[in-house]
Amino acid sequence: MKKIKGIGLSSGIAIGKVWVWESDFLKVPEYTVARNMVEHEISRFNLAVKETEKEIISLQEELRKNAGNQYADIFSFHLSLLNDDFLKEKARDIIINGRVNAETAVKRVLENVIREFNKSSDDLLKDRRRDLSDVIEKIISNMKKSSSPAARRTRDEIVVARDLAPSQTVSLDKKHIIGFVTEVGSITSHTAILAKALEIPAIVASDKITEILRDGDLIIIDAEAGVIIQNPAPSVIEKYRLRQEKILSRKKELSALKNLSGETRDGKRVCLQSNIELPEEIETSKKYGAEGIGLYRTEYLYLNRKDLPCEEEQFLAYRKVCDRMGGKPIIIRTLDIGGDKFLSDFEYPREMNPFLGWRGIRFCLERTDIFKTQLRAILRAAVSGNLRIMFPMVSTVEEVLMAKEILSEARDSLRKDNIPHCEKIETGIMIEIPSAALISDKLAGEVNFFSIGSNDLVQYTLAVDRGNARISHLYQPCHPSVLKLIKMTIDNGIRAGIWTGICGEMASIPEIACLLVGLGAEELSMAPVAIPSVKEKLRRMEGQELKNLAAEAMLFNNHEEVLGFLQKKIR
Ligand code: PEP
Ligand code: MG
Repeated sequence: MKKIKGIGLSSGIAIGKVWVWESDFLKVPEYTVARNMVEHEISRFNLAVKETEKEIISLQEELRKNAGNQYADIFSFHLSLLNDDFLKEKARDIIINGRVNAETAVKRVLENVIREFNKSSDDLLKDRRRDLSDVIEKIISNMKKSSSPAARRTRDEIVVARDLAPSQTVSLDKKHIIGFVTEVGSITSHTAILAKALEIPAIVASDKITEILRDGDLIIIDAEAGVIIQNPAPSVIEKYRLRQEKILSRKKELSALKNLSGETRDGKRVCLQSNIELPEEIETSKKYGAEGIGLYRTEYLYLNRKDLPCEEEQFLAYRKVCDRMGGKPIIIRTLDIGGDKFLSDFEYPREMNPFLGWRGIRFCLERTDIFKTQLRAILRAAVSGNLRIMFPMVSTVEEVLMAKEILSEARDSLRKDNIPHCEKIETGIMIEIPSAALISDKLAGEVNFFSIGSNDLVQYTLAVDRGNARISHLYQPCHPSVLKLIKMTIDNGIRAGIWTGICGEMASIPEIACLLVGLGAEELSMAPVAIPSVKEKLRRMEGQELKNLAAEAMLFNNHEEVLGFLQKKIR
C-alpha cells in the first residue's frame, strides 16, 4: 500500500482499477493490412509526413517572428529528422514486410531507435531521442482519424494520464470512467472545472503518477484530501467505503436546502446560480437548487468536431437550455475560444502565450462571421427564455462598443430576414483582466451587468498560469490585489446602478463566497454541486455581519491571512 499526493478537485472518492491513458500517440491502433492495402498505408504515411512538415515549418516561422532565430532553429533538427531517408525507409520496410498499418510501423521505428539511444549515456543523444519522439508523435497524430480511446471503455476504471485536455475530459465515457488522476493541472484549469461539473472525483498535479501506477492497479482516490492510495489493504478500502457513504448522506442533508432561496439570515437575496458547459448539466443544476445559470460556457458546443456549429444547431441548443430552465435567468457567454480550448479543425495560429493571445472577444471581433452566427442564434433563442449575453476577455471599452455594434447588426439582419428574435436583451461583460477591473467605472456605463471571472482575474493579476502545477501555491484568489480589484469593480457597478456577480471558482468556496457577498456581489455562480454548501453558510449569516467581515478581510497582507481569518469567523 502506498500513498501518493496531488491536488484534489472535489469531495468525491473513487475506488477502482487503473487505466493508464498513455500519451495518445502511443495508443495507436495496431493491425495487419491486406496485401492490396500496403500501398494505401504507404501513401497515408507519406501524406502525414508532408502535413507534419508543414506544421513544423509554420511553428518555426512563428517562433522566428516571436522569439528569434535561436529558438526557431531548434526545429531545423526536427525537420532534418523528418526528411531523413532512414525514417522513411524503415517505416516503408515495416509496412511492406510486416504488412501492418502505418501507425504501427512508425511506432516500431521509434521503439527501435529509442532502444539504440538508451544504450548510450550521452545526454545529447537523450535530447535527440525526445526530438524524435516529438516528430513521430506529430506524424502519428496526423495519421490518426479515430475517436479518443477513452470513449471506448467497457468497465469501470480510473483514468491516469499525464494530462487531459478539456476536450479529452469531455469525451470521457462517464458510464465507465469513475475518476481521473493527472500529473499536471491545477484547480482552475478548464479540465478541473469540467471534472467538477461532471462530478467526477479527480486529482491533478500528482508528480510522476503515470510512472508509479500500472494498468489494473487497484487504487482509491480521495479527491477531498488530494490523496491516491495504491493497492490499499482491505481494511482501508472498508474505511473509504464508509466515507463514500458519509459523503452521500451529507449530500442528502444538503439537498434538503434545495428549494430554499439563496439569502442571508435577515433576508438579503443572493442569487445562487450554476456554471454549465453542456446542456446536460441542467439536470444537475436543478438537482442542486440552482436559481439560474450564471455562466453557460458555449465553447463546448464547438469542441471535438470538425465543423463549426451552424446557426440552427446553436439556436436549438440554446433554446433547449431556455426550455429546461423554465424562465429562470441564463447568462450565455459568447465563444471563449483560445487559451486552452481550441477548435479542432480550425487553422489556429500557434502562439507563444495562448492565454495572452487570440482568445475570447479578441477572436470574435476578428471572426465576425462566427460571432454573428452565434449572436443570431442567441437572439432567436432568447424569445423562449430569460437569456442574457455576456462577452468574455474584455480589456478595453472599444471592445465592448464593437461587440455591441455586431450584436445590433445581428439583430438588424434577423429583422430583415423576418425571423422571430428578442429585440431587447441584457448585455454584460466578464471582468477577468485587471485592466477591465481598473476601468470598470468606464465600462459600467456600457453594460447591464458585470460578472467577475476570478479564474482568469487571479491568473492575470498575479501572473500565475492557472494550469501550472509547479506554481499553484502562488495562485491565490484571496491575494489583497485580487480582492482590491473585485471590490473596485463591485463599487463601480453600484455607483453606475448595475449589479455584479462572480462566476469564477472562488465563488464555490463557502467562506470566500461569504466574503464576496460582504463586498456587495449580488449573484454567485459556481459548479452546481457547490451550491448547497454555499447556501448553507450564507443562510446562517446576517447581511451586516458579512459586510463587517469583508471590511476586516481587506486589511490583511496576504492570501493565507485572509483565508485563515475567514475560516475562523465562519465555522
Ligand atoms: C473565469 O475566468 O473565472 C471564468 C469563469 O471563465 P473560464 O474559467 O471559462 O475562463
Ligand atoms: Mg475566464
